[in-house]
Amino acid sequence: ILLRGDMRYRPDLETFTPQLLAIHKGLIPSQEEKKKQRQFLAHLDSLVCSDWPGAKLFLYGSCANDFGVCNSDIDVCLAVDDENFTKAQLVVKMAEILRSDNMQNVQALTHARVPIVKFTDPVTRISCDICVNNMLAVVNSKLLHDYSQVDPRLRQLAFLVKHWAKCRQVNETYRGTLSSYAYVLMCIHFLQQRKPAILPCLQEMQPTYEVVVGKIKCAYFDQVDKLKSFGEWNKELVGTLLMGFFDYWAFHHDYNRSVISVRTGGFLSKEEKDWTRRIGNERHLICIEDPFEVSHDLGRVVDRHSIRVLRDEFNRAAKILRQDPNPCTSLFEPF
Ligand code: ATP
Ligand code: MG
Repeated sequence: ILLRGDMRYRPDLETFTPQLLAIHKGLIPSQEEKKKQRQFLAHLDSLVCSDWPGAKLFLYGSCANDFGVCNSDIDVCLAVDDENFTKAQLVVKMAEILRSDNMQNVQALTHARVPIVKFTDPVTRISCDICVNNMLAVVNSKLLHDYSQVDPRLRQLAFLVKHWAKCRQVNETYRGTLSSYAYVLMCIHFLQQRKPAILPCLQEMQPTYEVVVGKIKCAYFDQVDKLKSFGEWNKELVGTLLMGFFDYWAFHHDYNRSVISVRTGGFLSKEEKDWTRRIGNERHLICIEDPFEVSHDLGRVVDRHSIRVLRDEFNRAAKILRQDPNPCTSLFEPF
């Protein structure tokens, strides 16, 4: 991992921090957009309450986890306690309710791994995905949100990494690259590793929040207001952190042996996770442990081809941050 001494590559690196922070600021949703989202959600809530007694809506994904850039889609989870219907049937029922309310482009994707209904609200033009009974996503969104409250540098770093991944087209799970969720976990893990650490490991602390989802117990310290000064011994700014992040994934990560684990705040071996072989389509070429569903490798979507694409992009980004005269432009150049 990049230490201060390595900064010899780029003595002027921190002069780019203000520019990077300006890019970060430009990505934050406006108050107006937030207000529109709240209006839309209130409408959706009243629709479901009146048409479907006992059903409840929860927000998850980037709207709930504090890592949402402007004009993001909204991810909603419908919670219903009805064992007589499959998720696909519940998605179809939700689609009918939305159509009768004149929502646009309502599509029920019942055959997806996670069945969802997609639609657009004609009033606010917001696009929304609704999944069913996926409470683990609601809980992991809360974990990400709680981490974002500990140190503002996480949100800065994660926004820039997500923005880079979108510009460079390496944020497309259907094409074998990584989800936004995976990138945020990579950022959290990276900040847990800094010396001194910028983020703690909330799941290794005395739990103040506990829920059971299916068979999985989710527990961690969530009184993050008490941790606001956790990272203050580390004075690194986002320029250094962004370069360190790409340097790590380009030159230091042990792709053959290592698993990154936010849950333990450290590294595990592929061996101990039994992630050494290809099983079906799961190859484990880059290993990121889900913090709660620990048998779940978020890198499992990555294949022989896309691992090359990803690693080439990490290399490109690291080199730009080390030597390019205009890193803030080159880094985000559209692919
Ligand atoms: P974006 O701004 O790109 O929409 P996002 O924060 O909504 O980003 P996504 O990757 O779209 O992130 O994921 C939305 C949510 O779905 C995540 O916060 C997480 O709760 C859940 N999720 C996504 N991918 C996975 C996965 N592979 N395993 C478990 N949960 C996932
Ligand atoms: Mg999303």
